Amino acid sequence: MKRILVIATGGTIASLPAEDGLGGLAPSLGGDELVARVPLISELCDIDVVQLMNIDSTNMTPTGWQRIAAQIERAYDAYDGFVILHGTDTMAYTAAALSYLVQGSPKPIVLTGSQQPMSAPFTDAKLNLYQSLLWACDDAAHDVCVVFDGKVIVGTRAHKQRTMSFNAFTSVNWPLAAIIRGGRVVREGGGTGVASAGSVRPLFSHTLDERVVVLKLTPGLQPSVFEALSASCSAVILETFGIGGIPTGFEKTLFNWVDAGHTLVLTTQVPEEGLDLGVYEVGRAYAERPGILLGADMTVEALVAKTMWVCGTASSRSLRERLFYQPINHDRLA
Ligand code: ASP
Repeated sequence: MKRILVIATGGTIASLPAEDGLGGLAPSLGGDELVARVPLISELCDIDVVQLMNIDSTNMTPTGWQRIAAQIERAYDAYDGFVILHGTDTMAYTAAALSYLVQGSPKPIVLTGSQQPMSAPFTDAKLNLYQSLLWACDDAAHDVCVVFDGKVIVGTRAHKQRTMSFNAFTSVNWPLAAIIRGGRVVREGGGTGVASAGSVRPLFSHTLDERVVVLKLTPGLQPSVFEALSASCSAVILETFGIGGIPTGFEKTLFNWVDAGHTLVLTTQVPEEGLDLGVYEVGRAYAERPGILLGADMTVEALVAKTMWVCGTASSRSLRERLFYQPINHDRLA
């Protein structure tokens, strides 16, 4: 039997209503208790549980990502795979961050959680937990992914799309790695069919630059907003309009931003199909400007995590560019 380490971090899956009936849902059950509620798991694999934190994922931070990655690094040789129990609200960010902190893992690193607590009468927690372990035990599973509502989503492509329904996550601009029907894994075309070529251990990274901000263009926004950001941010991810429109008047500010050594990543605020700055007059000036990084078809969650990793890892602009454009865990088309 395979050995899987369950890393519990909290989330709705672990939450109970406040005893006085007045407070909201808050994480309370430990990972051991969650695993014990799904006895069928014992037929799949041997499990150890480590409780790393017990938080609403609203309070997850880059330091939290690094703690999860460090736990995986410490335990890597002793287990065949890892299942992380996590709140759904920031799960896509954590899945992306782990894709950069633990690169090219031949062993699966699976994130799951639930929309309803394990203790709720009509919970999705049991099936999500069971199916995550099923995927973690699959011989073809590797690298970071999210398993939720029967979908196996590559870790850099997950996005929380719904606040209540059980099918909370979508895979953005990339096929699913697999679907799970009941107790069976059906592989799809998401590119995770074989383990990373020849890798025995993943490449572990440890440094992130947290000074990354996402700024969404809205009609009437003034370029002077960048002045307020320059003291505290090393990088801005700018969500442009449509396929890549930036209002007239931003050019000087954005060029000065990169010339001053800051990082600027351009992406689109449209959820699907990505950026192409060459199409419209209002984008062309930025299409080939040195120093500006282009998000292409990446999710914003992956851009946040990758920019933190790139800025935390590389001190020169050329190395930052090289790392940013290198596809990792299918985060962008090559
Ligand atoms: N607020 C919760 C969390 O992200 C939501 C959930 O887990 O579904 O921790």
